[in-house]
Amino acid sequence: MPRSHSALPRLYVTSPLNPGAAIPLSAAQSHYLIDVLRLKKGNQAVIFNGRDGAWLAGVLTASRKAAELVPVERVAKQTPPSDLWYFFAPLKSGRLDYVAQKATEMGAGHLQPVMTRHTQVGRINLDRLKANALEAAEQCEVLTLPVVHEPVALGDLIAQWMENHLGRRLVFADEMAASASPIETLRSMAGDKLGLIIGPEGGFSEEERALLLAQKFVVPISLGPRILRADTAAVAALAVVQAASGDWR
Ligand code: SAH
Repeated sequence: MPRSHSALPRLYVTSPLNPGAAIPLSAAQSHYLIDVLRLKKGNQAVIFNGRDGAWLAGVLTASRKAAELVPVERVAKQTPPSDLWYFFAPLKSGRLDYVAQKATEMGAGHLQPVMTRHTQVGRINLDRLKANALEAAEQCEVLTLPVVHEPVALGDLIAQWMENHLGRRLVFADEMAASASPIETLRSMAGDKLGLIIGPEGGFSEEERALLLAQKFVVPISLGPRILRADTAAVAALAVVQAASGDWR
C-alpha cells in the first residue's frame, strides 16, 4: 500500500470493485465521509471489499445520505485470508471490543468466543464484535475481515476439534505453565495450521487446564513470568505466534 494513500480515509464496502463502476455507500458511511470528514466531490478514499484488494476511489456524489464512490485504481493486491483461529473467553464489553480490534490488527482470520467456567459474560453481541473487527480492519489496512463465529463451550470445542479442525494445533496460553519463552516451540510450528486460546479474567479452571493439556493437538505456552490481564495476554500471545509463524517476515 503506497504510504501516500495511508492518510486517506479507508472504507469497507461489499460491492465488487471495478474501475469506473460507481459504488453506493450506506447512510452511515455517507454521513462519515461527507459530514464528519467533509469530503467533497473529487476527494479520494481507499476502499476494500475483502476480495479485490484495496482501491483508490473518488467521491462521485457528495450526498450526506447516499454518497457514491468510484474506484479509480487498485493500490494493493488482495491478501489471502488469514487461517489463524483466535479462541477467547469473552471479557466484559469494553475489553471485548479491545480484544476484537487487536486480534484483527494482529492478523487473526477467525474469532471465536469460548465459554469457560470463569467466563463472566453471559450473552455476547456478535454484531458488536463484527463492528469492532471491521473498524480495526479499516484503520489498519487489513484487507480481509476476520470471520466472527458463534460462541462455543470449551468442552464442545475440544470434543469436536477433530471434526472441525483436523490437522490444526491449538496453542494454549497457560498461565500456570512455568515461565519460559514460547519462541522455539512456536517457531517449530511455522507453517502449521494454528489456533490460539486465551482464558477469561479468572483464568482457566483446573479441570479445563487438565482437559486442554490432555489433548495431543494442544501446545501449551507460557507468556512469561507475570500473570497478564486477558486482554494483554491476547496481544502478547498473538504477537509471539505471528512473529514465530512467519506472518511478520
Ligand atoms: N487467574 C489469573 C489468570 C487470568 S489471565 C487471574 O485471575 O488474573 C487470563 C488469561 O491470559 C489466562 O487464562 C491465560 O490464557 C493468559 N495468560 C495470562 N498470563 C499468562 C502467562 N504468564 N502465561 C500464559 N498465559 C497467560
